[in-house]
Parts: sequence; C-alpha cells; structure tokens
Amino acid sequence: MFTSIAGRSVVVTGATRGIGKGIARVFAGAGARVLIVGRDADAAKATVDELSATGAEASHVLADVSRREDCQRIAATATERLGGIDVLCANAGIFPAAPLAEMTDKDIDEVLGTNLRGTILSVQACLGPLAASGRGRVILTSSITGPITGYPGWAHYGASKAGQLGFLRTAAIELAASGITINAVLPGNIITEGLADLGEDYMAGMAASIPLRRLGSVEDIGYAALFLATEEAGYITGQTIVVDGGQVLPESLAALDG
Ligand code: NAP
Repeated sequence: MFTSIAGRSVVVTGATRGIGKGIARVFAGAGARVLIVGRDADAAKATVDELSATGAEASHVLADVSRREDCQRIAATATERLGGIDVLCANAGIFPAAPLAEMTDKDIDEVLGTNLRGTILSVQACLGPLAASGRGRVILTSSITGPITGYPGWAHYGASKAGQLGFLRTAAIELAASGITINAVLPGNIITEGLADLGEDYMAGMAASIPLRRLGSVEDIGYAALFLATEEAGYITGQTIVVDGGQVLPESLAALDG
C-alpha cells in the first residue's frame, strides 16, 4: 500500500535496547539498512546480531548523543558505511526519577543533556547527509510526559520531552528548505527493559489507567515512526503523533468505568 522504503539508510539512536531497538527492528523488517547507536558495546552487538540473523543489513556505532563529537562520528559512520542518511530516528533518552525538592544540578544536566541537547546535536550532525538524501526524514521520540501529562519525579524529564517539541517546530521550518521533514512520536507507557525497572506495581497501575487496558509494545512506536518515514507522509512536518492506547484521554478514573 505504501511505497517501499527498502534500501533506505536509517540511523536509530538509543537502539541498543527498548523502543529504539523496536524501531530498528521495524525499519529493518521493511528492508531498510540500519545503523544502531548507543553506548553499550555488548547490547549494540546483540542488537546487530539479532537483526542480521533475519537477513537485515545492520551495524552499530558506539556514541554518546550528549557529545557533539560523538554525533559527528555517527553521521560520518553512516555516510561512510551506508552512503548517507535518509532517516534519523533521534530516540536516545533516559528517565531517572528525582523529586523536584531533591533534584541536583547533575540530575538536571544529565537528563537535559541526553534527552534535549542529545536530540539537537544528533539532528544538527546529520543535517548534511539528510539534505543530500533529497527526502530526509527526522523522527524524534518524545513522550506524553511533559508535552501533555505530568508524573511526580519527572519534572526534568518532562521539561526535556516538551523541549524536544519546541525544537521540532522551529527545526521543521528551517529544514523544509532542504526537503527534510521532522516529526515526533509521543509514546505512552511502552514495555521496555527501562520501564520494567520501575516495577510490577507501576506497570499494573499504568495498564489500569489506559483505555486500551495494556501497555504499548516497542513495535507500536516503530510502526508510527515507519509511517512518518514513508513517501506518503512527505507533506507532514512539525507534527506529533501520540501512541498511548488512549492514556491521555480520560478526564478522571470514573471515565474508565464501564
Ligand atoms: P531504555 O530501554 O532505557 O533505552 C534507552 C536507550 O537509549 C538505550 O538504547 C540506551 O543505550 C540509549 N541511550 C541512553 N543514553 C544515551 C546516550 N547518552 N547516548 C546514546 N544512547 C543513549 O528506554 P526506552 O524506554 O526504550 O526509551 C527510549 C526513548 O523513548 C526515550 O527517549 C524515552 O524518553 C522515550 N519514551 C519511553 C517511554 C516508555 O514507556 N518506555 C515512554 C515515553 C517516551 P546505551 O545504554 O547503550 O547507551
């Protein structure tokens, strides 16, 4: 139904596990050539092995997206290995909790450094190859937390995720001249290794507050990202897609009864 994206070169940051790995799996399944980005060498290799075993073309580069020189190395590696970049999925992110009253400078700097600065740096570094593609696509992984909702302990995280959308709207205007679109997927609660660390009680409580009564899968996010990368989505830029099973909709718990 959609034009094939087979052969496109796709960079996914934060793809050593979780949502990024799911995004990479979905793009690889659609025939794209993927570059996995993360800091954990063993996890990166395991992801590449898993994708390669399905016949996909996948490789990895170790990089910390909060560092400009690392982001430049990501773009250089993609250019050298894949011949360019058609799609950048800027997904890397962290979500350590810290109550506002106890939040340290280090807490703030780490979360904003990875989630917001890392998004900006990775997009900046890939601009040349994305423009050269002639159909460059950037897909950010934001969140419902910050842009739409709040959750205790995540004031800095929410600020970083809302900040990504502020960045997105101006970037969309600037990048349009190069034929690059930039959009964001806003996941609700998605089952990942990172989320599992928050515990069974957190996961069960969240599922009960979601109209579709389940947490999302990493593929749910991957398919939204894939759609935004299609030819057919080429007139969409500066926009957001919430993928949350309806989680942001109920006005109160009573709205979920019956
Ligand atoms: P996760 O399972 O903890 O995975 C995070 C990924 O980001 C890992 O691959 C990690 O790789 C990478 N990463 C972290 N810091 C990095 C850095 N400085 N440089 C490069 N890579 C880095 O988390 P996730 O749940 O998949 O989250 C992925 C994205 O989705 C984040 O942006 C998060 O805010 C967003 N999100 C998640 C949920 C959810 O329910 N899970 C909901 C809304 C939004 P290394 O450890 O190898 O560096």
